[in-house]
Amino acid sequence: MAAPSGLAQARSVSLLGATGSIGASTVDLLLRHAGAYSVEAVTAHRRADELAAIARKLKAKVAVVADATAYGALKAALSGSGIEAAAGDEAVVEAAARPVDICVAAIVGSAGLKATFAAAGAAKALALANKESLVCSGELLNQAVRASGGIMLPTDSEHNAIFQILNGLDARHAEEIILTASGGPFRATSPAQMRLVKPQDALKHPTWTMGAKITIDSATLVNKGLELIEAHHLFGVAPDKLSVLVHPQSIIHGLVRFADGSVLAHLGPADMRVPIASCLAWPQRIDSGARRLDLSEVATLTFEAPDLQRFAGLKLTQDAMIAGGGAPCVLNAANEIAVEAFLEGRLGFMGIPDLIAETLDLCTGRGMTAPPADVHAVLTLDVEARRLAAQLLPHIAARSW
Ligand code: NAD
Ligand code: MG
Repeated sequence: MAAPSGLAQARSVSLLGATGSIGASTVDLLLRHAGAYSVEAVTAHRRADELAAIARKLKAKVAVVADATAYGALKAALSGSGIEAAAGDEAVVEAAARPVDICVAAIVGSAGLKATFAAAGAAKALALANKESLVCSGELLNQAVRASGGIMLPTDSEHNAIFQILNGLDARHAEEIILTASGGPFRATSPAQMRLVKPQDALKHPTWTMGAKITIDSATLVNKGLELIEAHHLFGVAPDKLSVLVHPQSIIHGLVRFADGSVLAHLGPADMRVPIASCLAWPQRIDSGARRLDLSEVATLTFEAPDLQRFAGLKLTQDAMIAGGGAPCVLNAANEIAVEAFLEGRLGFMGIPDLIAETLDLCTGRGMTAPPADVHAVLTLDVEARRLAAQLLPHIAARSW
């Protein structure tokens, strides 16, 4: 019997990072199509009350907080619901390892690595939002998905766009894969003004509403660089076939050019429910609830090349992609330390690419950027690169204002 919502069969789903921005969009979709999905596990960092409310709404089987000190609050908030409560990093990984049809992996940062790998081994489809996993360990994650016989569905809007355009075609047939970027809030800001940027300015993204870390990454364009590395691993294409096009309206999300000169584009509203719905229903379709795109209302689509001088973080990520091995993991670790410090007022905005560059230099000089052999080596490199970035931070901060 067809499940409500038009899916041929009901699907089981787990949601890692349920209290975040991607989490909220996914919860919205699961509630819209409640009959079509049964929810296995939901996880969060430490907001126990919020997670319990989500678990109750979704009728999840288990809810897990990574922070063990939040266990009591979660247990109390779930009392009488019949929903199992668990806590701790290992409990998150165990929840991710439950077999499901789809796991939406939406923990932010390399903190999501272990759970994402666990999901890669257990879910028939890994709907990947946690791009840092692919950046740090793309080859290993691809291997994990292949070994489990599952598939990876890109949740990131640009990659979901490319996935839809290719529609099963080997990406190596493409001449160029183009990811669009809004350009962020400082697209037209002078270098002198960029030095003065405050967290509250950088948190105002012009077109997307997202979690704090990715919003800052979008303001530095490091996000777009991470997305190039993500595309490199998702589609198996060489770095020189990948490019970035600034498109401030965020209507076209990705483009693919072929040898005959054809360019195929994916258009849609800037609403993450669109790519997430595509993953949840793939290869079928469900209503995302997103406002339908009216191009006569949009009227103008504009494009420009990214400015690699003002947005040095984009150039650094491109270089790290070309260098490969452990370089992207080091870059990601340094970026996470830099973004956290910027948000806490300990580093100037232009100090973010500086800290990345110096951490990469230091780690490369120490021979740390050889390809990590396994997930354990990736996690070790992440910890060590963070430690070195934190050591470099005060020197870089002092000259970043
Ligand atoms: P967010 O900060 O809004 O949410 C992050 C989630 O991860 C929360 O549920 C939080 O509880 C959980 N989390 C944080 N630290 C954790 C830890 N140590 N252990 C376990 N759980 C932890 O982030 P977001 O904007 O939803 O982004 C999530 C991921 O999706 C990121 O990798 C981001 O790059 C990617 N992504 C987000 C968007 C977007 O529109 N928000 C778009 C594309 C890709
Ligand atoms: Mg994106």
